[in-house]
Amino acid sequence: MSKFLNNKLFRYLAVFLFLNSAILPVKSSSALAAWALKTNGVLELRTKSNTNLKAYFQKANQLYGDRFWVDFPGELKNPRTIKGNGPIEEIRLGKPSDGKTRLVIEFKEETYLAPLTWRMVGLDQNRWRIKLFTPKYAFKEIGEGFVGKRITVFKKNQNSNYVRGKVNNNLQLPNVKQNKFSVVIDPGHGGPDPGAIGIGGIRESDVVLDVSKIVKKLLSEKGVKVRLTRKNEIDLDLSPRVSFANKTDADIFVSIHANASRGKRRDINGLETFYFRGWKGRFLAKKIQKEILRVSPGSPDRGVKQGRFYVIKNTKMPAVLVEIGFLTGRLDARRLEKAAHRKRVAYAITKGILEYLSKVG
Ligand SMILES: [Zn+2]
Repeated sequence: MSKFLNNKLFRYLAVFLFLNSAILPVKSSSALAAWALKTNGVLELRTKSNTNLKAYFQKANQLYGDRFWVDFPGELKNPRTIKGNGPIEEIRLGKPSDGKTRLVIEFKEETYLAPLTWRMVGLDQNRWRIKLFTPKYAFKEIGEGFVGKRITVFKKNQNSNYVRGKVNNNLQLPNVKQNKFSVVIDPGHGGPDPGAIGIGGIRESDVVLDVSKIVKKLLSEKGVKVRLTRKNEIDLDLSPRVSFANKTDADIFVSIHANASRGKRRDINGLETFYFRGWKGRFLAKKIQKEILRVSPGSPDRGVKQGRFYVIKNTKMPAVLVEIGFLTGRLDARRLEKAAHRKRVAYAITKGILEYLSKVG
């Protein structure tokens, strides 16, 4: 148990949902009163009223399977482990730090999960519900205590208690000094050059233009000056993109692309980020790669690599080329065709850029 809780990987949060606001005194007893994982894959929780919950999801690694956990204020008295069945490997109740309670659900390897669609719903002042999976075979309920509604409940306030746990990779983008930085974003391809064509005819030039525009908006909101090499569906050769960037005083250059595999293999998915030279380029690539992986659970990490692409080789500032997924891959294409996912990817790229700017300057 302690090995599990002290593991540093545990602090890496792939996805998290923040819920509600009121906070209990730190040293109070656990706010978790009862929990049940029902036969339909729904987790129900009963807590003290107006508890501040934090829910997280982390993809499997070498040590553990996919995990979902919820942190509650108040200290758990008896840490314990409960054996799972069906898609559930194990359920652990622990004390991640003094004054806290953590309920961890670890899934078996083969379980299909879609954490980006998960929503924690507040049923009333002290009851919560989240659908985690759809059982393929019979699943036996696991739980402790009574999660149902008590007869004497508090006055209902449906609106304020219906909490949409927005799944964002991170709600907080780092701050940087206002009006200090300038970035060039290069949406790949355009016009008669659609770039990669994916499943169902999805076009790289459209996908990356959409993502680039959102990145521009998010960075602008942080006081970063952003220039796009193209703002619409025009054909722009590579050399004008580079000379445009080199004429500006931009701190960094980020080219956004989506991949296609040879033979359009649907089983090939993944994300990768290229730089051409310098530790700054490499550092920027690492920051972006880390963030885009977080919003693309299950999609392979193809790594940060050195690449000789024209636009990153010939720009004079630190430059990267990010491939946000395979339009020919089943998993990636299905996501990239959704506006919500493109938004998350844009968010992730923005976060990587801001982290770079705040550290390297
Ligand atoms: Zn491309």
